[in-house]
Amino acid sequence: DRINIAIDGPAGAGKSTVARMVAGHLGYVYIDTGAMYRAVTLSAQRLSIAADQDARLSELLGTLRIRLEPGDNGQSIFVNEEDVTGLIRSREVTRQVSYFAASGVVREVLGAMQRELAAQRGVVMDGRDIGTHVLPDAELKIFLTASVQERALRRFKELPSDQGITLEQLESEIAERDRLDEQRDIAPLIQAKDAIELDSSHMTIDEVVASIVKLSRT
Ligand code: C5P
Repeated sequence: DRINIAIDGPAGAGKSTVARMVAGHLGYVYIDTGAMYRAVTLSAQRLSIAADQDARLSELLGTLRIRLEPGDNGQSIFVNEEDVTGLIRSREVTRQVSYFAASGVVREVLGAMQRELAAQRGVVMDGRDIGTHVLPDAELKIFLTASVQERALRRFKELPSDQGITLEQLESEIAERDRLDEQRDIAPLIQAKDAIELDSSHMTIDEVVASIVKLSRT
């Protein structure tokens, strides 16, 4: 029988790569919920809407059709049929996304979309609050961590070199994003009681994937 798998954890722990590969192994659908928060952030920035402007945010959310599409190199994301897959990875979006993710208006709409996407079961969903809030009944919950130094180094290596950011800046931006995600009032980043913690600092991606696939079969 198909199950749902929740993979939560701090920024840069490898959740999306791992989640995509686990989904591939199991023939499941991979859903990157961070991309959805990023898409809303990008859309709000374009209209100069701030994270605390509830009325404007609600109105905006009502006009956005967010669609995820599995692709060869991960998942593509479309907003009203515009492909924003690359745009949502900009430094500007990355720096602001945690403020929009702290908005109750935003979380309510995206949470409902995410639950609907998982209703058929057979999804691997990665995020911050999947095991605690979005899919509290997921059969398998993983909390994927790694030291902040290791996470910053991994991100640094995959960044296009024209972003003009140093490893030290990246590390402090990641730490700040984690702090905001852990300290917000609604659905903060926290390990679910029934989640299994995997520290990937000294594991390869393949080892992490293999252990999750194994856990999914027990
Ligand atoms: O996973 P990613 O780093 O792309 O997520 C971007 C941001 O979106 C996170 O830092 C967090 O603020 C927000 N997020 C969230 N809940 C999720 C997924 C992402 O609050 N389930």
